[in-house]
Amino acid sequence: MIGVLALQGGFKEHEDILDELQFPHRRVRSLDDVEGLTGLVIPGGESTVMKMFMELYGLDEWLVERASDENFKIYGTCAGMILLADLRILDAVVKRNAYGRQLDSFLAEMPLGDLNVRGHFIRAPKIETLGAKAESLIDHDGVPVFVRQGNIWASSFHPELAGDSQIHATIF
Ligand code: GLN
Repeated sequence: MIGVLALQGGFKEHEDILDELQFPHRRVRSLDDVEGLTGLVIPGGESTVMKMFMELYGLDEWLVERASDENFKIYGTCAGMILLADLRILDAVVKRNAYGRQLDSFLAEMPLGDLNVRGHFIRAPKIETLGAKAESLIDHDGVPVFVRQGNIWASSFHPELAGDSQIHATIF
């Protein structure tokens, strides 16, 4: 059972992708929702707001604890990547809104092994430094935009908004 953090932001689009893949999922809004989860998707949205609610409901400490379980898969998109870096779950220095304003949003198609994945960059964070424990799976203009650190994945972009289920299928 995959959890989808549903405190704020674009969780619905992730649910649609998981439905398409027929992966069972459940919304996570408090610690009452986390029993039996094998992973968590952290959507895009506003990282400051999401972080505030996570702290309020104790989900930040829960996530830090779960992240140390190599069998628990975590995937953060955009604001989700910022949260993972903020909580020091992902060893990366991330600059918020580094791809410009809403109007500067763009859709990119990027190779990932044999796959071609599509994703929207919307006020996306840019990875300035990637820690030694993490690896870049996709670079865009020489910058890592999809990274993995063991059981943790994060993308600067939104495949779910492009209706692209390939990354979710690969991770989960
Ligand atoms: N700019 C947002 C933030 O800093 C992230 C945007 C997004 O998730 N699409 O939290």
